[in-house]
Amino acid sequence: MPPHVLIFPLSMQGPVNCMLKLAELLCLSGISVTVLNTDHIQRSLIRHTDVLSRFSCYHNFRFETISDGLPDDHPRSSELFLEILEGFRTVTEPVFREMMVSGCFSSKSAFPVTVIIPDGSFSFALDVAEEIEIPLIYFETVSPCALWTYLCLPNLIKAGEVPFNSNDLDVPIQSVPGTETFLRRRDLPSFYRCDDLANPAMHILMNQARHVPRAHGLIINTFETLDASILVHMRNLCPNIYSIGPLHTLLKSRLTIAPQSSVSNSLLEENRTCLTWLDTQLEKSVVYVSIGSMATMTVDQFFEIWHGLVNSGQPFLWVKRPGSIVGEYDDDEVSKHLMYETKERGFMAEWVPQEEVLAHSAIGVFLTHSGWNSTMESIVEGVPMICWPHNVDQQVNSRFVSEVWKIGIDIKDTCDRFIIEKAVKDVIHLRKNELIQSVKMLGEYGALSVAEGGSSYMNLNKLVEDIKSMGI
Ligand code: UDP
Repeated sequence: MPPHVLIFPLSMQGPVNCMLKLAELLCLSGISVTVLNTDHIQRSLIRHTDVLSRFSCYHNFRFETISDGLPDDHPRSSELFLEILEGFRTVTEPVFREMMVSGCFSSKSAFPVTVIIPDGSFSFALDVAEEIEIPLIYFETVSPCALWTYLCLPNLIKAGEVPFNSNDLDVPIQSVPGTETFLRRRDLPSFYRCDDLANPAMHILMNQARHVPRAHGLIINTFETLDASILVHMRNLCPNIYSIGPLHTLLKSRLTIAPQSSVSNSLLEENRTCLTWLDTQLEKSVVYVSIGSMATMTVDQFFEIWHGLVNSGQPFLWVKRPGSIVGEYDDDEVSKHLMYETKERGFMAEWVPQEEVLAHSAIGVFLTHSGWNSTMESIVEGVPMICWPHNVDQQVNSRFVSEVWKIGIDIKDTCDRFIIEKAVKDVIHLRKNELIQSVKMLGEYGALSVAEGGSSYMNLNKLVEDIKSMGI
């Protein structure tokens, strides 16, 4: 039977971005791929990118859609995460099961689905796959270090280390092997800061801890050198791990396109004039600020960051995504104020081609929410980070950035203009050489891993061979 993979991403920018890259890599290897997006994601993709025309060159690729159970005008922001989960649970999960059991994708593409690759948080997909006897490989789009804390959740609970409330956040954590010397309560995923275990997010993570090791394999967006200390422990639970990152670099090398260009799967329109503005700035002088596609901040936090940047004396490029500032405020007033004070020193955009921005020689530091894709993209381009994590895996990622890889500063749980000013000055001046040297070295290891014979290169080949053999 010819191999036919069904890829089912979580309906958020980060997961969609990298799972489409995986889809493209599999298509290039001659495997047929169907990507199942939610209607909402598909509409945004069509509106803002040339993704349809890019994929139209693959005769072995198709998109299908499914409802996410939310009304069209729902903001789908991280604050409303529980509503997003509820829509999925009540609408998407049963519809997905029905689609799979009825063989709907098989009839549309003329041959059956042979392997399912869903987001790692879709525990229900494994139950369906087992019911209809189709192999399933999870794609975990969060970082391996955060995933490891999910897989250790039963032990953390047994040891009484989780749950905890927001007091004493500096208490060290002992039940996540490989992290005992540096992980504190405040570095665990934000969901663990709760009074009891009976909340929906904990339920999903517990399910994930039970389901992920049962799958045929696990794909992750990292490279062996970066996460060796975690992968060695994770392989005891999940022996079949395909580490194929940095995924965007691997795809570019297979498409043979220039490393500084991007393969965009943006859900928002990109402002490319920021690249022209960057051309006018000094080398390694600009602070690039972005909190990704879902995180939000209050207007007070916005101004703390802004004052910190202005007082640092460095130019900055700031992605002020529509809807990213929450609470009561007058957006026109904020914009006027910024326009007057920021003058030529700051460039505000609603969305930018991030991979290209990070590759620009003017960027000196990335003030980031520490989403996993952003972290990988920054490492690849050798850009040190100031981490201001919000939720999900970001608290863990920022700790690894500062304590394990030593490629940035973690300012989690603070938002203060003086701290931000000092962090910018430290990265751009005081600690410049040390941080750039470490992050550049990691970036070079990343490049080696996707080159012919490198670990990610070989792991992708193995994944392709395994998928092909599963169809037989
Ligand atoms: N991104 C982008 N333009 C922007 C901001 C972000 O293209 O102006 C992309 C970024 O390159 C990354 C993704 O959006 O691939 C964000 O994913 P991440 O995992 O960092 O964070 P999330 O949005 O999932 O919280």
